[in-house]
Amino acid sequence: MINKRVAKVLDRFRITSGKGFRLKDHDPGDTGGLDLQKDHAADLLQQGIERLAELQDMLYAQDRWSMLCIFQAMDAAGKDGVIKHVFSGINPQGCQVHSFKQPTPVDLDHDFLWRHSVALPERGRIGIHNRSWYEEVLVVRVHPDLLTKEKLPPRLVGKTIWEERLEDIAAYERYLARQGTVVLKFFLHVGKGEQKRRFLSRIEEPEKNWKFSAADVAERGHWDAYMSAYEEAIRGTAAKHAPWYVVPADNKWFTRLLVEAAIVEALEGLDLHYPKVTKAEKAALEVARKALV
Ligand code: ATP
Ligand code: MG
Repeated sequence: MINKRVAKVLDRFRITSGKGFRLKDHDPGDTGGLDLQKDHAADLLQQGIERLAELQDMLYAQDRWSMLCIFQAMDAAGKDGVIKHVFSGINPQGCQVHSFKQPTPVDLDHDFLWRHSVALPERGRIGIHNRSWYEEVLVVRVHPDLLTKEKLPPRLVGKTIWEERLEDIAAYERYLARQGTVVLKFFLHVGKGEQKRRFLSRIEEPEKNWKFSAADVAERGHWDAYMSAYEEAIRGTAAKHAPWYVVPADNKWFTRLLVEAAIVEALEGLDLHYPKVTKAEKAALEVARKALV
C-alpha cells in the first residue's frame, strides 16, 4: 500500500482530461502540503521502492500486463535522478529503459512512432522511456526546421499537423491500453528559476560539469514556446487510460515520492497475483517432490 497521505495528494497532480487544463495553474514548487522532514521523505520513498519491487515481481510472473512510463521535462528537471531512484529496487530483468535522442537517418526513414514502438515493453515488463513520441510535438514544434528533415510528403504537412500528431498519439495510447499496456506519462515540471540554479551548479561544481551543455541554455531561450507546446500536448492526450502527471519538480524529494506513488498505485489497480497452480500442476509438483526425496 502506498502511504495514505501521499495517495491523497497524488490525485491533484493526475490529469485525465485535457479540458480546461492550464499549466499556469500548476506550481513547480508545490509540495502538496506535505512538508516532510528530509528523513521522513526518504523513508516514504524507500517504502514505495520496496512495494514496487513486490508488484513488479508479480507483474513479471503473471506475464499479462505491461507498463510504459514516459518521462518528459525541460533540461535539469530531474528525469535522470527520478529514473535512478524510483526504480532502484526492481529487478533489472523486469524493466527496459530507453533514452530517445535526435532521430537517426534510419529512424527518419519511418513514421515517427516507429522507433518508440519497437522499444515498447514486453508483457510482464516495465518500460521506462526517457523522452518519447512527445518530442514530436515538443522540440519539433518549437523548431519547425526539424520537421522539414522528417521526409514527409509535402502535401501531408499542413497547418493542422500538431493537432493531427496529438490525435495520433492519443489514439495509439488508447490502442496500447486496450492491449494491456498501462501508460503513465510524467511531466516533471521545473520552474525557470530553479532550472537556472541547477544549470549554474552544473557549471560551478566540477563533478557536475559533465552534465552541462550549452545547447540546454539555448533551449531555455524557447521556454514559453515549450510551455505552450507542453500544455497543448497534455490537453490533447490526457485520458483516464493514459493519464498525465504534472509533477512539481523544484523539490527533488517531492518529485520522486509522487512518481513512485503514481506507479505503485497504477500497479495496485491491476490486482496482480502470482499465477495460480492448477490441480494437475500440483499433482505434477508432488510427483517431482517424491522423485527428489
Ligand atoms: P537528456 O537531455 O534527455 O537528459 P542527454 O543530454 O544525454 O539527454 P541529448 O543529446 O540532450 O542527450 O539528447 C536529447 C535531445 O534529443 C533533446 O534535445 C531532445 O529534444 C532531442 N530529441 C529527442 N527526440 C527528438 C525528436 N523526435 N526529434 C528531434 N529531436 C529529438
Ligand atoms: Mg540533454
